Amino acid sequence: MTFDRTPKIALEEHFMAPGFIDYFNKTAINISPDLFGKALTALQDFGERRLAAMDLIGIEKSVLSLAGPGVQAETETATAIAKSRECNDFLAARIAEQPSRYAGFAHLAMQDPKAAADELQRSVEQLGLVGAMINGQTNGAYLDDDRFSVFWERAAELSVPIYIHPYNPPDFPYMYHNHPELFGPVWSWTVETGNHALRLVFSGLFDRFPKAKLLLGHMGETLPYQLWRFDSRWEISNRGERRLQLKPSDYFKRNVWVTSAGVCSDEPLRCAIDALGVDRVLFSVDYPFEKAEEAGRWIEAAPLSDEERRKVCHGNAKALLRL
Ligand code: MN
Repeated sequence: MTFDRTPKIALEEHFMAPGFIDYFNKTAINISPDLFGKALTALQDFGERRLAAMDLIGIEKSVLSLAGPGVQAETETATAIAKSRECNDFLAARIAEQPSRYAGFAHLAMQDPKAAADELQRSVEQLGLVGAMINGQTNGAYLDDDRFSVFWERAAELSVPIYIHPYNPPDFPYMYHNHPELFGPVWSWTVETGNHALRLVFSGLFDRFPKAKLLLGHMGETLPYQLWRFDSRWEISNRGERRLQLKPSDYFKRNVWVTSAGVCSDEPLRCAIDALGVDRVLFSVDYPFEKAEEAGRWIEAAPLSDEERRKVCHGNAKALLRL
């Protein structure tokens, strides 16, 4: 060991449950077959291999989430609901085997917002999960749609974060035509997920549910870089059709937290902290799609004060997830 190991909690750490591999196979169009095959083995391990990767960089606790898209890609609503429950029971059982090392985010069937709200509540109150991860749009619906009010109301009541994780848009946008490298983690997932978050902000969702908590990975999907421009341009683009109680940037500083999942780079880290505040940025790896060692080495050497590093590595996660 040649680097420090500030105690860490990591929030975008993925697993695979039996019965969900067919959904995961849909992401094969977004990543190389080689990485895909290697990832699948690592995703299914809850023991030695995963714990060794965590120990190597001082991750005391990993908050586990199903590798997407899961039931987000299920066309039968009843199946999606049943399988989401199955997934949460499976995850809770794995956590129960290593309760000091693992926590988890619920997997939900957003096809039925009321059922998703009920399953979120069951997951938090009965299974001890600490929030939920949602893999983007569901059959073309984004979470700013009115039908999801019942879900946001429950999430706000439970005071747990909803993590929006990248997935593909409902159609294939022409702008990615002939550029497969752009369709996936290089760019389209950032566009899709950042846009999803902006839909939530500009819809006034956080005026209706001021206590709702949104988590984004990948250092905020580039949004922290853009806050000033959101504030300066949104009213003229809005044509007076919507009203917000606060400036767009204010919602990012009140309702949004971001993780470093999948980004090991000083400049966006500093930007996220300087734009959102040091209490809103949380360390993550995006295991097994990123290497824990690289993420650990990077955060230990990143240009942060000791207090900032402690907050990013574990303090902020403890406060947000009430661990
Ligand atoms: Mn991920």
